[in-house]
Amino acid sequence: MTELVIRGGNVITPQGAVIADIAVDEGRISAVAPELPGAAREIDAHGLTVLPGLIDIHVHFNEPGRTDWEGSATGSHALAASGGTVFFDMPLNSSPCTVGPVEFDQKRTVLERSSITDFGLWGGIVPGNRGALAELAARGVIGFKAFMADSGLPEFPRCDDRTLYEGMREAARLQLPVAVHAEDEELISKLASGAISVGRTGIRDFLDSRPVTAEVMAIQRASKLAAETRVKLHIVHVSSGSGVAAALEARARGVDISIETCPHYLFFTEEDMERIGALAKCAPPLRNASERQDLWTALMHDQVDVVASDHSPAPPEMKRDANFFRVWGGIAGVQSTLAVLLAAGHRDRGLPLPRVAELTAAWPARRFGLAHKGGIAVNNEADLVLVDVSASYKLREYSLLQRHRMSPYIGKDFFGVVRQTLLRGQSIFAEGKIVAASMGRFVSATDNEPRTV
Ligand SMILES: [Zn+2]
Repeated sequence: MTELVIRGGNVITPQGAVIADIAVDEGRISAVAPELPGAAREIDAHGLTVLPGLIDIHVHFNEPGRTDWEGSATGSHALAASGGTVFFDMPLNSSPCTVGPVEFDQKRTVLERSSITDFGLWGGIVPGNRGALAELAARGVIGFKAFMADSGLPEFPRCDDRTLYEGMREAARLQLPVAVHAEDEELISKLASGAISVGRTGIRDFLDSRPVTAEVMAIQRASKLAAETRVKLHIVHVSSGSGVAAALEARARGVDISIETCPHYLFFTEEDMERIGALAKCAPPLRNASERQDLWTALMHDQVDVVASDHSPAPPEMKRDANFFRVWGGIAGVQSTLAVLLAAGHRDRGLPLPRVAELTAAWPARRFGLAHKGGIAVNNEADLVLVDVSASYKLREYSLLQRHRMSPYIGKDFFGVVRQTLLRGQSIFAEGKIVAASMGRFVSATDNEPRTV
């Protein structure tokens, strides 16, 4: 007898939406069709939309070493509450950072103990660790992250051009992507020090120190290095329509470049940042309404590949400083990615639900080579989220499952309530609560066969 059938949902498959049942056996989808026979366990999904579980390719859960900032238990709980079933953790701000095999092994071990969702790991490129990249690849990193601007963390220094060039050559040889934080260090550091030296340390001064052109210049330089080295280039957190345009120019010249944006760049503007303050500080910063509109236009025209949270939390005390330049940057929005796409995208702009599935699950699985993930199809793992897209709600502080309940989205009106999240057929979040123990597994591009427990 089939183990589980999810009955009668509006199922968002790679071919489009269909009212159907989903059968699950041994954690995998065994059938998607109407009127499937009875099963040992059934979930009634009539009136609900069934999407593939979100694959959040950009989070900072900061474990090991900085679980007082987040931790993968609390982080993955918040992800599951918003329909997420996989995250890729960045090489910082865990301590140690994931820049070598020992650090990798340490992180994988602790995340296997504490995460409720599956996870992949980014390695880092920093000056001096080129020799470690092959060992990180052999262990299954999803790709390598490099900073073109100061990361804010002394133990994860930014890449000078030579480090980035040589790192890209090695990553190309290892057939793994390089993800860059693209802001021009010389421009932004000099604008910042110039402002600070004359006592201009407010929110507007911070915004002025990180102009859109700094992002565009860095994307252009990274693209030139990627063209030369033939590496797969991934631009994390593109904040502006101009940034997308710069990446598309490189793509038109043949660079294998992919474009990520984050919910906060789609939802907020720099005026919101001036009003909200520290909770909305991130880098690159929020942009003006015109850049946000261009970003939406690009996304609606399939020119943005992926939406990831860049969940970057910190303890409350690091979010308080009269000098806004010294406030820790990072928006802790892991629980709001789907909410933003359903409210500001699907409801307000007509973003089709299959595109939501593409931006949050199918594309990440393809780009990073996760077999059997990313879509509702037979033989894929049953990573699913059941959403009531007829229900709206106001995000309340108490509903956040992350360690520090600080989010610029608190009090905002959303649409689409997550009723249940399933990982490999097992419910991990249902009706507002985490309902399973940690069961996360490590995933990687080389992991093409079913994993044994
Ligand atoms: Zn980040």
